Amino acid sequence: MSNARKVPVPHHDLPYPRLEIDRQRAEFADAAVEDRFNRHHLPETTAQLKISLLFCAAFYVAFGATDVATLGPTATAWAMIALRLLVALVAAGGLLAITRRPESVRIAVVAACVVEIVGLAVFMVLCWYQPAATAWNVMSQALILMAIYINIPNRFIHAVWIAAGSSAVFCAMLFVQGHLKMDDLVALVLLLMLGNTLGYIGARRFHLARREEFRSTILLQQLADRDPLTGCYNRRVLQKGLLDAELARARRYGTALSVILGDIDHFKRINDTHGHAAGDHVLSDFGGLLLAMTRETVDSVVRYGGEEFLIVLPETDLAGAHALAERIRHAFGSTGSAVEFGEFVTATASFGIASVPALDPDAPETPAVLMEAADAQLYAAKRGGRNCVRGVSVTADRMRSTA
Ligand code: GH3
Ligand code: MG
Ligand code: MG
Repeated sequence: MSNARKVPVPHHDLPYPRLEIDRQRAEFADAAVEDRFNRHHLPETTAQLKISLLFCAAFYVAFGATDVATLGPTATAWAMIALRLLVALVAAGGLLAITRRPESVRIAVVAACVVEIVGLAVFMVLCWYQPAATAWNVMSQALILMAIYINIPNRFIHAVWIAAGSSAVFCAMLFVQGHLKMDDLVALVLLLMLGNTLGYIGARRFHLARREEFRSTILLQQLADRDPLTGCYNRRVLQKGLLDAELARARRYGTALSVILGDIDHFKRINDTHGHAAGDHVLSDFGGLLLAMTRETVDSVVRYGGEEFLIVLPETDLAGAHALAERIRHAFGSTGSAVEFGEFVTATASFGIASVPALDPDAPETPAVLMEAADAQLYAAKRGGRNCVRGVSVTADRMRSTA
């Protein structure tokens, strides 16, 4: 420990995902968070979408009765019914795709968009050949707009384009046909605008509310699982079975697993010499360094005690864990923490490793053996003069070799 001015440990962000919501698009700004949100809701989304597609197909075909009623049993009427059946067929294809690939967020959105676009294109053709029923058709279009805004999952912006685009085409068609009086025309165009506005407001509110709820859940989870000073996991995550799960996975797949216990050397002295606040800075920087030097979604860093941290390294053998601990030890020892009054405080840390080798038939069943071994190695590192790394391979009943 010294006051020497050395390179400070880079400031770290807490490992919280970026949770801002892009309110224009009604999606999370971060694509990874948006994806996580969509996956979270996928079973519910696809179940609802399947029902919607069935309803759309049934109504499209059922309204064929109005074609025959309006045009009589003419060739045009039968052609229209054929077109309606085509929409039902496309909807059935969408249903099949969603059922076959229930894990795909993209397929659900694409299926919904394709069915809506084909349905709307067919609807335009039907309307073109039934100018006498224009007022009814505009009303139907206004209701179809609602279905578009409600049914296209996740990608609100797709719904806006499809609904607004189809409305523009519909308005153009009314003008081109030119058989409506101006007041009727204005009323029908306003009706389409109303459909779009209500659909836009309702769907946007729905998409935003769902994301805000998801964000609250994530934030609460982070508050519950993370230590506020360092951003590392707290002991609760271990109590929830983090290590048990990793050990079970290593045993099932025959992969290696390592844990590193890291403890800052003579930390009490830092508190005593520079004050508790300076100690907090050093702790926060040590935690940040551990997070920065481990694999973000694979490894776990837990604040195990006051100035003691546990790193869980799946699929990592003793040599790999040893190399990592050495890199961390060197990085921490050669950087400083900026504390008050422009001072830099440097410290060192000691590390104890316990590893389960790959394909080990004697891998321990409970984490206790692993933790005890890592603790013993940390103790050995402290006794060996501190600022060093000690490690051991662990089996169910004995420790095999030291590194
Ligand atoms: P060793 O090299 O053997 O590990 O010695 P040490 O002084 O680091 O270990 P010891 O267990 O004697 O002291 C740990 C100190 O860490 C005591 C405690 O006051 C301090 N501590 C624990 N949690 C915090 C914290 O959140 N902030 C600060 N500033 N200090 C803490
Ligand atoms: Mg210590
Ligand atoms: Mg300690």
